[in-house]
Amino acid sequence: MSYVDEVIARIKKENPDEPEFHQAVTEVLESIRGIVDENESSFRRDALLERLCNPERQIKFRVSWIDDKGQVHVNTGYRVQFNSAIGPYKGGLRLHPSVNIGIIKFLGFEQIFKNSLTGLPIGGGKGGSDFDPKGKSDREVMAFCQAFMSELCKYIGAYTDVPAGDIGMGAREIGYMFGQYKKLRGVFEGVLTGKGKSYGGSLVRTEATGYGLLYLTEEMLRCHGVDIKGKTITVSGAGNVAIYAIEKAAEMGARVVTCSDSTGWVYDPDGIDVTALKEIKEVRRQRLTEYKKYRPSAEYHEGRGVWSVKSDIALPCATQNELDIEDAKALVAGGVIAVCEGANMPTTLEATKYLQDNGVYFVPGKAANAGGVATSALEMSQNSERLAWSFERVDSELKSIMVRLYHNIDNAAKRYGADGNYVVGANIAGFEKVAKAMMAQGIV
Ligand code: NDP
Repeated sequence: MSYVDEVIARIKKENPDEPEFHQAVTEVLESIRGIVDENESSFRRDALLERLCNPERQIKFRVSWIDDKGQVHVNTGYRVQFNSAIGPYKGGLRLHPSVNIGIIKFLGFEQIFKNSLTGLPIGGGKGGSDFDPKGKSDREVMAFCQAFMSELCKYIGAYTDVPAGDIGMGAREIGYMFGQYKKLRGVFEGVLTGKGKSYGGSLVRTEATGYGLLYLTEEMLRCHGVDIKGKTITVSGAGNVAIYAIEKAAEMGARVVTCSDSTGWVYDPDGIDVTALKEIKEVRRQRLTEYKKYRPSAEYHEGRGVWSVKSDIALPCATQNELDIEDAKALVAGGVIAVCEGANMPTTLEATKYLQDNGVYFVPGKAANAGGVATSALEMSQNSERLAWSFERVDSELKSIMVRLYHNIDNAAKRYGADGNYVVGANIAGFEKVAKAMMAQGIV
């Protein structure tokens, strides 16, 4: 059995009931097969793949908090410190009822390669809890965040592990957690990114993942002779990534006709009204059913359905495995040119293969959505030098990072005979840097 197959089998056996983690490991290891085969004896001797696929540390803890009626609730908190070969652990905290150790491990594993691709010195980590902020009062969210940070603060720090936001963890939650960290540890330091601008946050961090997704998509299409201007785009999700992807796409002259949340989706043939969307989701924290009040001509549908709409470009920006083989078939039948992942692993392995086999330009999340963590790293730089850069400076750094990242993955794919396969390109380019650092640092 090849080294890659051996490690995939071992990971599946030793980590049962973690299908998302298996999926992420399989995708990465399959696509670095070429480079592993070339270096098999040294990688095997150093157990490089086993070390890469096993987190350096996994922390699981109880989070007890009291609701507005005096009832005590218990949630589970996680932090997976996956790999620190190229820098302090960096990766978001997800607050969603679906969170479990397998989900956090898949996200942490992906984060290693994504962070490497940014070209910045950040290792991979991820965390979160099965707490659901939806429907909770601000005071209840604060109670949870303080309880969560009371334990997490023992394991993180500006030079060890720097968490950020993710699903369910926005500016409000970051603020409460930062306040609690500062109170307990007695230091004002850049321990979290995505902070408010008045206390060390970076301009453009809110917009970064969505904007970065569009910068990369535009560059990739340009290199294939396609102008994004005038194109029709379908987007899923209506959260942080989706909103700013829609905003930047409209600025570039494209027309985004869909968005969705976990209960339904909107089709607006005139182009999604991003001001209305921000009001509904960022200010009022309402469901997408409200969208029709702002745009009566738009359609609202219950359930899933975004990928049934014909488009030139599809940007899945909601959650993992939200675009399956049937969706991929519908997109190809509708003439889609490109699928770029705003969310983490939103496309199933089967759907990815179908899209690639049908000539669709497919960019995986670890490359396409890296703008968020890249800007988080820029926030860390600003915190270290105690300065705040202008919007223009951060935005222009973000754009350069995304353009450079695209060429990096494109070149890596070409070097390994997989021209145009950006899954292979991203995994190889991300892996090369981390592997080199791990080999140089000995067996630690
Ligand atoms: P948000 O919580 O802001 O938004 C998530 C959106 O996806 C919401 O519209 C939510 O709907 C929807 N959604 C979540 N879970 C499901 C589900 N199970 N089924 C259908 N819809 C769902 O999160 P973000 O925008 O920050 O994150 C979206 C994705 O992007 C995630 O995969 C995240 O890991 C990834 N990402 C985020 C980055 C960031 O900077 N924020 C950086 C890189 C990647 P509802 O509100 O109804 O739950």
